[in-house]
Amino acid sequence: MAARILDGKESARKVKAEVAASVGTFGYQPGLATVLVGDDPASHTYVKGKRRDAEEVGIRSVHHELPADVSQARLEQLITELNRDPDIDGILVQLPLPAGLDSEKIVSTIDPVKDVDGLHPHNLGLLVLGRPGLRPCTPSAIMRILGEHGIEVSGKTAVVIGRSFLVGRPLSLMMSERGVDATVTLAHSRTAGLPRVAASADILVAAAGVPRLVTAEFVKPGAAVIDVGISRTGDGLIGDVDFEPVHEVAGAITPVPGGVGPMTRAMLLVNTLEAAQARRD
Ligand code: NAD
Repeated sequence: MAARILDGKESARKVKAEVAASVGTFGYQPGLATVLVGDDPASHTYVKGKRRDAEEVGIRSVHHELPADVSQARLEQLITELNRDPDIDGILVQLPLPAGLDSEKIVSTIDPVKDVDGLHPHNLGLLVLGRPGLRPCTPSAIMRILGEHGIEVSGKTAVVIGRSFLVGRPLSLMMSERGVDATVTLAHSRTAGLPRVAASADILVAAAGVPRLVTAEFVKPGAAVIDVGISRTGDGLIGDVDFEPVHEVAGAITPVPGGVGPMTRAMLLVNTLEAAQARRD
């Protein structure tokens, strides 16, 4: 039987409506600052989408664009100014930054209470400790998609392919957290026997950035398959999952586009809302 499609666009609409309703009850307008460096077309598209989403739910969007040859010091100065700005609740620096800039240092310059991407070492540390804090948007999006579609995580076996600090590693922590309770394997480019490891999963998450890496042999019949990958090819956006054959084996599957991507954007709004409440209430 063909897999159920986990529609990220529909779930994102729901989350955005919730955020808009909450913002409507505030006595102030939350502010999200986006910082875009250089002229990477994909980054421009992403930031444009994030700004549009923010405006749609009543969050004020403030945008800063800097040339690719901006100095580290100038960029850090801008972040410091945004940290001090009382009307700014969230700061998002679009990654990746052009070569020559130290992304880790830039992200560490963001005040952790305004770190709506959840990538500051302080927030990642809270995640490791299992304490509340701003959490990275893509792993949060995946958890929310699973929740929205009633996919049981507790006691299940999950395999996450990809160990980046942006997606795979924080997701493995979130899935194995007390109360969520999956048993997680974090696989990567050096994992031996990846298809066999992947096929042990009740929930398989592909976040490697390798187009169509996950074929039907990677998938246990009935498993939930979450495709995080986005590769821009001549044929358009391609995920990490070879959709057609996997769709025949899996029990549920996210499409690309229209799966994790829209929910990731929605979770940025949720984080901005949480950051505003934590700072102002
Ligand atoms: P990354 O390059 O930082 O990390 C990729 C990880 O995959 C690494 O840990 C690597 O070990 C692993 N990997 C690479 N090749 C592999 C292989 N052949 N087998 C097993 N593991 C392999 O990438 P990232 O930033 O984590 O992003 C991963 C993908 O997710 C990219 O396609 C990116 O565009 C996409 N992405 C999508 C969203 C979204 O909202 N949908 C958000 C972030 C990233």
